[in-house]
Amino acid sequence: MYADDPVAAHRSRVAAWYARIPYAGAMSERRGGRPVWAEIDLDALAHNVALLIAHARPARLWAVVKANAYGHGAVMCARTAVEAGAAGLAVVCVDEAEELRAGGIDAPILLVGQADMSECERIVGLGLTPTVCSMQMMLALSRLASGRGVTQRVHVELESGLNRNGLPLDALVELAEGARRLPGIEIEGLYTHLAAAEEGDTGFTQRQRDALEEAHRRLAWIPSKHIAASASLLLSPSMRFDAVRAGLALYGYHPVPGADPNVGLRRVITLKTRVTRLLDVAAGETVGYGRTWEARRPSKIALLMCGYADGFRRSLSNRAQVLVRGQRAPIAGRIAMDMCMADVTDVPNVAVDDEAVIMGTQGGETVDADELAELAGTISWEILAGVSARVPRFYIRGGSAIARTTLNERLPVPLAADVAASR
Ligand SMILES: *Cc1c(COP(=O)(O)O)cnc(C)c1O
Repeated sequence: MYADDPVAAHRSRVAAWYARIPYAGAMSERRGGRPVWAEIDLDALAHNVALLIAHARPARLWAVVKANAYGHGAVMCARTAVEAGAAGLAVVCVDEAEELRAGGIDAPILLVGQADMSECERIVGLGLTPTVCSMQMMLALSRLASGRGVTQRVHVELESGLNRNGLPLDALVELAEGARRLPGIEIEGLYTHLAAAEEGDTGFTQRQRDALEEAHRRLAWIPSKHIAASASLLLSPSMRFDAVRAGLALYGYHPVPGADPNVGLRRVITLKTRVTRLLDVAAGETVGYGRTWEARRPSKIALLMCGYADGFRRSLSNRAQVLVRGQRAPIAGRIAMDMCMADVTDVPNVAVDDEAVIMGTQGGETVDADELAELAGTISWEILAGVSARVPRFYIRGGSAIARTTLNERLPVPLAADVAASR
């Protein structure tokens, strides 16, 4: 049946293989594989979505699931967010949106990145809501939408100080007025993005808000205006307008760590691995590339199958701690591409096969993305989004895994000769 189509044949073999593995208990059945995985707590995500909706009310919530839902797995997180009441989803590019549509999600999807002219057909075909910044694209979308007898919703973005994607006020007004009566086009939203919201309601943030309000005075017929991402949603009630675009907070992290511990957000991701080997090293021996860690005493070293290609950043070498048996154990030496080592000398009864937590909670201890970001000199957004495609995700509801995604579910498709030649 698939004789002519090797990709379809491969897909069906893979599907048959997956079908044999029941979702519940899948984690234990995967023990033969490489022991690194992420557990995505969909109950925590649904809790956060509900909490943010309550914060935003009466504004609507766009759940930002770009970058594979900040590393958490786009389709399952998007589905959960919509079920928990999010009015729509936001991603950066058409490919990300297409993944959601392929995953059976029919909620509105806002594209917050700059869409390309060449993608107009896919945008209309997939029923997306792009941010449009040129008349040429408005015209192309209008033609396609009216040809199909559908209404193409679009948003426009004001440049108010980030100096990135938006249009300056006069150009924005000209574009919006020019496109206002195009057949098939509905300009549904007007927005801007803050440059320094994490610093709170400062003068600059207020000026950006004033700029959006000024634009909306001139384009008062546009039904929706929005400015807030997670930070201003949580910190500045005056920024909520009628919609908010929340990303980071969905996943349980506050944009300003420690700003308001009572918000009640719950962490969604736990990144786990297992002790695959225990080594005894004598005092004076070194561990790992570059010999950057030296045993000061006879030491017990645990080998862990999580490396920087999984998202455990190399700059955390000799800095981060992992959790084993509910206890913190320091990383010993350089984090390699596929594995790392931890000094477990002070962890009693440590054994091969023990679960180790790279990011998350075990027993009473927690290592979170804020801690790793601080140690790595970056932000929690980058730590979360950095959990790579190689790491399987298990989606947990009510304590058991209900679904899984892996690298192997994104199979290559053959390119037509002309496309291949143009690369
Ligand atoms: C990523 C993004 C957001 C979400 O930001 P968070 O700080 O993660 O909530 C909102 N709006 C735009 C335009 C974005 O690019």
